[in-house]
Amino acid sequence: MKKDEEEKEVNNHKKIFIIIISIVVIILATSGLFLYKYYNKNKFVFTLKKSITLPLNSNVNPKEYIKSIKNAKVKYNKVKTDTIGKKTITYIVTDNLFKKKHKYTYTLDIIDDIPPVIEGKDNVSLFVDSKIDLNSYIKVSDNYDKDLDIKIDGEVDNKKDGTYKVKYIATDKSGNTSEHTITFTIKKKSIYDTVKLEDGVIGTSSKGYKIENKGGATYVGGILIANKTYNLSSSYGGGLKKSTSSAFNEMKAAALIDGYDLRIGSGYRSFNTQKSTYKRYVKRDGQTKADTYSARPGHSEHQTGLAIDICAAGYSCISSNFNGTAPANWLSDNAYKYGFILRYPNGKTNETGYKFESWHYRYVGKDLAAKLYNGGNWITLENYLGIASKYSQ
Ligand SMILES: [Zn+2]
Repeated sequence: MKKDEEEKEVNNHKKIFIIIISIVVIILATSGLFLYKYYNKNKFVFTLKKSITLPLNSNVNPKEYIKSIKNAKVKYNKVKTDTIGKKTITYIVTDNLFKKKHKYTYTLDIIDDIPPVIEGKDNVSLFVDSKIDLNSYIKVSDNYDKDLDIKIDGEVDNKKDGTYKVKYIATDKSGNTSEHTITFTIKKKSIYDTVKLEDGVIGTSSKGYKIENKGGATYVGGILIANKTYNLSSSYGGGLKKSTSSAFNEMKAAALIDGYDLRIGSGYRSFNTQKSTYKRYVKRDGQTKADTYSARPGHSEHQTGLAIDICAAGYSCISSNFNGTAPANWLSDNAYKYGFILRYPNGKTNETGYKFESWHYRYVGKDLAAKLYNGGNWITLENYLGIASKYSQ
C-alpha cells in the first residue's frame, strides 16, 4: 500500500512538473509570438523603384522613387536636371524602432532627347551668278548643345539654271538629329526683273574713280551713273530732281530770249514705265535694235531724275529730225552753261552705248558740264570717268 502511495505521489509530481513546463512553454511561445508580431509590425521597410532615365529639365521629386516606406523617416537631397549625365539621390532613412540611420542611393540618368531645330525657308529663288553661301540660308539652334554638327548634303551650281535640293542635317552631342531640305531654284536673270542694289564699293574705274553703290544707284567718282553697265534699283527715283528742273527753267528762260520755246518732252521715268516702253520697242524692232535707242528697265538715265528729253515748239520732238535744227544747235552750244551735258553725242556710240540723241540732256552741274563741253567737242561721261556702257547679257 505504501508502495502504491509512493507511486501516486511520484505521478503527481510528474503531472505538476508537466503542467508547469507546459505553462512556461505557453508563456514563452505567447510572448515570442507577441514579440515577433510586434517586431514585424514595427520594423522599418524601405525600398526604391528601378532607376530611370529622364529628359533634361524634368521636375524631380525624390519621393516618387520610393517604392515603399514603413516605420521610418526619410531625408533626401535635391538634384538638378539642367545638365545631362547620372545624378544621385541619397536617401537617409532612420528607422523608428532602433533610431538607426540607413543610407540608400538612387540613380537618375538625365538625357537630352530633343533634336536641334533648323529654321529656314523651303524654297529659295536666285539668279544665275548670285553668290551662294549655303550656310546662310539656315539657322540652327539646340536646347542644350552649343557646338552642333551640321552637314550639308547637296550642291547648287550658280552658273546653271535649274532646281537643286540641299539637305541640311544637324546633330547634337547626344546624337539627336534633324533635317531640313531647301529647294534652290536658280533662274536666268530676266532683264525685266526688279533689282535691288546693295550699298558698297564695287570697284575702281580705269581712270581711278571709286565705283560705289549707294541708295539704289551707282556713283563713279561721286557722279551718279545709269548706263548699260550700271543700273539703278527698281525702286529708285520719284520725279525730276530739283536741281534738274531749276536748271532747266533757267535755261528755258535764256533760250526764250534767243527765240526757242523749250519744254521737257520726257523727264522722269520710273522703272515700270521704262519696262513697258522698252518692251514695246523690243516687240516692234527686236531687242538688238531696241538696245541702240531705248534703255532696258533700271538702266535708263530718265529714272535718275537728272535726265530730260528737250523739245522746242515748232520742231520735231524726240526724233532724229531734231538733229541739226537751230534749237538743237542752241542746246549743244549753251546747255553746259546751265549744268547740262549732251549725254549721247554724235559719233560716241562706242562709248555711251547709244546712238546720237540731240534732245537728251543730263544734269551734272555747271563745273563738270563745262569740262565735258570741251569747246563743243563733247567728252562723254564714260570716257571722262573711265567706265564702259555695255549690257552684261
Ligand atoms: Zn532721253
